[in-house]
Amino acid sequence: MVELKNVDVRYRERGGVEALNDINIKIEDGEFVFIVGSSGAGKSTLLKLLTRENQPTSGRVFVNGYNLSKLKGSKVLMLRRSIGMIFQDFRLIPNLTVYENVAFVLRVTDKSKRFIRQRVPYVLNLVGLSNRAKAYPSQLSGGEQQRVAIARAFASDPGLIIADEPTGNLDPELSYGIVEVLKDINQCGTTVIMVTHEHDIVKYFGGRIISLKDGSVAFDDTIGGGDEVE
Ligand code: ADP
Repeated sequence: MVELKNVDVRYRERGGVEALNDINIKIEDGEFVFIVGSSGAGKSTLLKLLTRENQPTSGRVFVNGYNLSKLKGSKVLMLRRSIGMIFQDFRLIPNLTVYENVAFVLRVTDKSKRFIRQRVPYVLNLVGLSNRAKAYPSQLSGGEQQRVAIARAFASDPGLIIADEPTGNLDPELSYGIVEVLKDINQCGTTVIMVTHEHDIVKYFGGRIISLKDGSVAFDDTIGGGDEVE
């Protein structure tokens, strides 16, 4: 569960810019939510609160059962391990194969070899990349690289996946496939929050949309989806 209660964020650097203003959002476990808004609306600021890279000036933030204002030391690490992150620029390790990129995150969290041998093929199959396990990132298309990044984010079965403009570097026709994969992962029970600029995608898939404007929630509702894109 993700909850923001009366959250304000003011950045001191530029004479107190109000980046977020009285935000109240509750996202239940298992939801799929699009966050939209133009540049400067506060989307990155919001995501940084969820991963505790940033703290609110006032208000409270809860993620995966953690009260983020009270979180200290190793608990911050545990919070971050309960969140899978996906970025616009994929962030794969170039000198590791697809298999190793996914296995790596499981090794650093001390998962057993046996678990890794089962889990990596399972998540690669889920993202449709079973046949590319031995390839290196540079041998893959952008869409395939982003699928690896999704497999990696999902490998440790986090409660929450945050995808920050995951289709921003991809051709529009590949973007839909990426969202489909995120939807499949959501079907496994993981909450997914996807930040996007692409209105066509949001209209096509529908579901819950949170729109930020000038640091406030301008819209938070469920839309039908299914709109064909011209
Ligand atoms: P978005 O991700 O929607 O583009 P941001 O969260 O990056 O929006 O920015 C929201 C507002 O906060 C903008 O006015 C931006 O200029 C300002 N801002 C963001 N980060 C900082 C920072 N580190 N210092 C000062 N102002 C910032």
